[in-house]
Parts: sequence; C-alpha cells; structure tokens
Amino acid sequence: MKKENKNKDLQTLRHSASHVLAQAVLQMFPDAKLGIGPAIEDGFYYDFDLPRTLIPEDLPILEEKMRKIIKANLEIKQEKLSQKKALEFLKKIKQPYKLELAKEIPDKELSFYRQGDFVDLCAGPHIDSTGEIKAFKLLKIAGAYWRGSEKKPMLQRIYGTAFYSKKELDEFLKMREEAEKRDHKKMGQKLNLFSISEEIGSGLPIWHPNGAIIREQIENFWKEEHKNKGYEYVYSPHIGKLDLWKRSGHWDFYRENMYSPIKIENKEYLLKPMNCPFHIFIFQSKLRSYKELPIRYCELGTVYRYERSGVLHGLTRVRGFTQDDAHIFCAPEQLEEEIINVIKFADFMMKTFNFKYKVYLSTRPEKSLGTDKDWKIATKSLENALKKTKTSYDIDPGEGIFYGPKIDIKLEDSIDREWQGPTIQVDFNFPEKFNVNYIDKKGRKKKVIMVHRTVLGSMERFIGCLIEHFSGAFPIWLSPIQVKILNVGKAHEKYALQIKEELEKNNIRAEIDLENKTMGKKIRDAELQKIPYMLVVGDKEMKEKTINVRNRQGKQTEEKIDKFIKDICAEIKEKK
Ligand code: ZN
Repeated sequence: MKKENKNKDLQTLRHSASHVLAQAVLQMFPDAKLGIGPAIEDGFYYDFDLPRTLIPEDLPILEEKMRKIIKANLEIKQEKLSQKKALEFLKKIKQPYKLELAKEIPDKELSFYRQGDFVDLCAGPHIDSTGEIKAFKLLKIAGAYWRGSEKKPMLQRIYGTAFYSKKELDEFLKMREEAEKRDHKKMGQKLNLFSISEEIGSGLPIWHPNGAIIREQIENFWKEEHKNKGYEYVYSPHIGKLDLWKRSGHWDFYRENMYSPIKIENKEYLLKPMNCPFHIFIFQSKLRSYKELPIRYCELGTVYRYERSGVLHGLTRVRGFTQDDAHIFCAPEQLEEEIINVIKFADFMMKTFNFKYKVYLSTRPEKSLGTDKDWKIATKSLENALKKTKTSYDIDPGEGIFYGPKIDIKLEDSIDREWQGPTIQVDFNFPEKFNVNYIDKKGRKKKVIMVHRTVLGSMERFIGCLIEHFSGAFPIWLSPIQVKILNVGKAHEKYALQIKEELEKNNIRAEIDLENKTMGKKIRDAELQKIPYMLVVGDKEMKEKTINVRNRQGKQTEEKIDKFIKDICAEIKEKK
C-alpha cells in the first residue's frame, strides 16, 4: 500500500514537472500551442506545436528556465471555469488543441491549474508549489501525432523525468544509461541481427543472417523440447475467413487490434490475429475419444495485430509476431495436470536462458464471456497448479482475457527490468463456440477444455529481450559466430584455414579475420562483435600445432585444437 501511495505521489510530482516544462516552453516560444502533458511510467512528457523543430541543444536552455520556475517556488492552484468561460478563455490565449479537448469534456465546470502566469486545462492533481520538484531532467525529443492519429498534425514531444531527490534521479539516469548501452535496436544494428525499414513498413522486422541463426537455434531447441513433452507440430495459413473470428468472439472483443478484412472472391478474410481456430479444425478432423486426450498441437505461428505507430518498439512491439504457440485439448479432469506441466515447461525454458521471473494470476475482467462456474473452475485449476508447483505468485485482478483467466510470467533481465514472457490461458469459450467435443468413457459427447499457452512469449519479443539481457554477448550455443580465428600475418593464413575447416567439421560456427590489420585491431573488432572465443595463430602456434585461445573475459590459454573442440562442443551442448 505504501509503495502505491509513493508511486501516486511521484506521478503527481511528474505531472507538475510537465507543467513547469510547458511554462518554460512558452517563455521560449510565446506562440507555442500546447498538446497534452501526462506523467508516464518513467517520468513525463509534453507535446507542443512549435514554430521550429527542436534540437538537443534546446533541452539545457529549457532546463535552465525550468530551474528558475522551480526556484521561484510558485504556488500551483486549481481554478474552475464554466464550460462557456473556459472555451472563451482558451480561444483568447490561442490554444486550439486545448480548446478541442475542452469541447469534449461534458462537465459543467472545467478545471484549470495555474502557477504564476501559466495556466493549463487540467484535471490535476498537482503538488502544492513548483519548489517541491527537487530533481528533474529533460531526456529526449520525439515526434508524436496529435491524439495518436496519423491524420492529425505531428507535434514535438519532450520527455523528461522528475524525482523527490537528486539521489533517485542519479540512480535512474545510471540505469537508463546502462539500458541504452544494451538497447536491442542499437545492438541489432551493431551485431547485424535484424532491421526495420520504413519502406517495408513500421513494426515489420526483417531478420539478417546473424539474427536468423539465433532465432533458428531457439526454434530448433523449442521444437525438440516440445516433441519430448508430447506435443505435435502443425502448420496453419496466415489468413482465414473473417467468420472464424466472428464466431470466436474476437471480432467483438478485439477488433481494434485486428486489421481490416481482405476480400477474396467476394468472401471476407482476415490476416490471422491468432492460431487457435486452425488448431481446433485439426482436432475436429475426426471424432475424438477420451483415450486420445490430451492432444497438444504446437506451432511457431506468425500472427498480425494492429499496434499504433506510436507504441511500436524494435522487436518488442511489432505488427507481425511469431507466437511459440500451443493448444492443449483436454478433459476437465486432466486440466490441472496439464497446467502443472506447462508451468514446469516454462520454468525450464526460463532457466535455460538464465532468466529469473515473476508470476501473476490474472482473473476475470469486467468485459468477458462465460459462466461464473466455468471461470471459477478455470481460476481454481490455475491456482492449484501454481500451489502444487510451489510457484509464488501475485494476483492481477481483472487482467484475464475475455474468455478465461491466465497465468502471466514476466521475465526479469540482468538489470532487473520486467519483460512480458510466457502465458497460460484456460478457455471454455472456444470449445463452446466451435463445438469442440470428445466421446467420454460412457460414450457421451463432452466438451473439451482448451489451454492456450506460450513458453517464451513471442520469438520477436523474446529475442529482443534476450539481446538486452545478455547485452549482445550471447551464450555460445546462440552466438551467430562462435569462434573467430585471428592470424598474425599472411604466413599463418593457411594454418588458420585448416583450423576453420576442423571447427566446421564439428558444426562450430567459425570465421577468420583475414584483413590486413594489426592484431590489436583484430581483437578489438572481435570484441565488438561479442565473439565468445578468439583463436590467435602465429609462428609459435603453427610450429607447435596449437592455438592461442582468448575468451570474452580476455583470459588466454595455449591449447591443442582437439581439446578446444571437445570443450567447446560440450559447452554448446549444455547451453551454458
Ligand atoms: Zn490460442
């Protein structure tokens, strides 16, 4: 409870800081038109329509003006105006965006906040005076469409943050710097893993060979583990008739996340937002007996969901992503055990990639389908499974999906940030809507229960997270290049090539840096590529038929090639 209050206070402080920023911007650009300026997770922003494009050098100037406003310790007080007076006032001070917002507020009285000569249409709350802002920083400039719509004007957004103490701000900035260093978008470019081109389309990443190697390794591992755990692999198309999603209820509940239907021979089709209906049709391709259950179909299925351009982010928020999906069709009495197995599976995956994680149980949302009884059974079985696996968890009230409750697993990366990871959902809705039945022991037709689940989340988001988690220094089994051979001079080229051949015979991904540059430069380049092992070969190595092995920590050993291959193969196999 205490923490929540503190967060609320911080939100208020940051929102007030955004007003101070707006005041400073108006001092610098008296004609500035104000958009909105809310507090956000890590700070605040404010959107402006300005006579010129901002440059990074503007931020310190604005900060200086903000400091003066804070030092003046201006009282922040609320003023209320009748709807009519409010509109007149906003017209008079030439704030068209605020006017647009004010017109849409149904209240008889509109709330404004004033500090010195600055007045803003705002519901509050705010801190009492500007002097309470003890530490703040402007962080960056970005473009943002007014009200998030591409049809509306592009405004300039200034991001900032504020804290109650300098110490907290310093810690935040240090963390931010660390996060920026490992930013997967930058790292993706530096290590040549993937790219996103506006010419292809926002939120549609393409995977370069290096990134594709990482993805392929994970996919192979994923498929192998699913086979071991009784799943069957299936494939499904990328579009399907719109009726499928009308029938499932998604068209009503999730329409804003789907793309517009496409017409083919006068029938409407949808780019698939999920794989579920296809797996159902595979299940229904014949009459199913209780003896066959549970049936588990898995697929690395790419789905397409509409995300607004403003929220797209590298690999972690995209418009087409590949779910590591599976659907388990089971009898009610099998449900709990199936969930237990998925929890254990997800735990195994997280451990393989060296993630700690947190677990949340999301319960029934307000807008949902199904009976209370079904929701109770589903929630109870998730809860029981969590208890039986001794998993500690928190409840996320009302955060379930419209058709059922779920377990969400959030990954914690190496710098303690949370990422959305695996999910386990219990569903009575699809079986109901699509009549998904089996024949029980007594020959009666019964409804199956479906479990939708992922054990990574999505390939795109998971790999984005992985890049930042490891800061690009992947474990050797995932490294696009596992070994880089560095020959001292021209005379050692042939020997280097022999070693490369030997490594490749053992399925080790190796490269030689044959360029004519100093050894220091070769080592630095390999370090920038985050290569796990460098093998330096010169006169001594050639003569003694050895290699000089240098690992990521800079530790060097002189080794025989056979021993090195044996060790590295073991390390790859163990996924260390
Ligand atoms: Zn599904």
